[in-house]
Amino acid sequence: MPHSSSAKYDVIQPHFSHIYVEKDVAYHPVSKDIINCFSESRIIPIHHYKDVFSRAGQEFSAQKESQKLILAAGRPPFLYRGADVCPSFGNPSFYYASSVMNCIYNCQYCYLQGMYPSANLVVFVDIEKIFLEVELAAEKLSKGNSLAPAPLYICNSYDTDLLAIRRIIPLADRWLDFADTRQDVLIEMRTKSTATSLFSKRKPAKNVIIAWTLSPDPVADTFEKGTPPLSVRLKAAAKAVDNGWRVRLCIDPVLFVNNWEELYAGLVKDISRELNTDSIESISFGVFRMGKQFLKRARKVNPASPILQYPYILEGGVYTYPLEIRHKILSFIKDRLGRVFPQDKLFQT
Ligand code: SF4
Repeated sequence: MPHSSSAKYDVIQPHFSHIYVEKDVAYHPVSKDIINCFSESRIIPIHHYKDVFSRAGQEFSAQKESQKLILAAGRPPFLYRGADVCPSFGNPSFYYASSVMNCIYNCQYCYLQGMYPSANLVVFVDIEKIFLEVELAAEKLSKGNSLAPAPLYICNSYDTDLLAIRRIIPLADRWLDFADTRQDVLIEMRTKSTATSLFSKRKPAKNVIIAWTLSPDPVADTFEKGTPPLSVRLKAAAKAVDNGWRVRLCIDPVLFVNNWEELYAGLVKDISRELNTDSIESISFGVFRMGKQFLKRARKVNPASPILQYPYILEGGVYTYPLEIRHKILSFIKDRLGRVFPQDKLFQT
């Protein structure tokens, strides 16, 4: 009997072979810009993004090999209080905004695999709604703090890497346009990308910090699938600095892997060789940590991952390394960074 085609041997489609579009935002300018980048893709109208994104029985790991795009309308709330496991860098009004869910990179330690039911990218194209909420929050904050105004601090690339996708999803540029209009808002855009053309083309924004996450190459090669090598990230950061942008570095998460001392000491050396450390705004560092429920789900998604399956301890609802290991790693990194950066630029997370 001939074999029928089996799901086991399905052909892997290229990324974004299918674009699901909520009918209400099909003609939004951002939707049009995105669809124009994918003339070969199949466009499928949908009613609500959750009809696709939240279906039962999806396989996050398999979807990562062939991500689909979902263009949707944002639904409030658009701003969320920054989580305790994320650094606020001394900003009392710390929020994050999510204009895209999911990421084109595939880091083994990423909490998104424990947070979302799908690896497909959802883009909330009507970003003007987010900006409106940010404006209202900034105005409320300035009214309450008329004597000592502090900016509203917004991280906009926690659930994605906006700079890595900016050629196909132009939201990083929109955030920068918005930042130019609101000096009372401070924006951090975190990335592992090589985005540089943006920074040479635009006038540097005083209220935007570009934050590069850095890992030693063997760590990135093994655990950060699809990301650019360290040397390229460092060159991108150097270019942004040269063009007058505020740049932050993040060594986060530091992973407890073979030869970790040698690897992370090498990383600090590479940083000091490639960048003028005086021109770096701040540098944060922290060990692996993930919320209890996210890790539980991520372990199911990726049962072979040595990072996820490590016997972490649970502390206050967060899984992390046992205290002794944590202490050893953090004191080591702090010491090495302290040799090239002043203490007031170091932020332990
Ligand atoms: S770059 Fe960040 S958001 Fe993207 S997969 Fe890696 S950890 Fe997750």
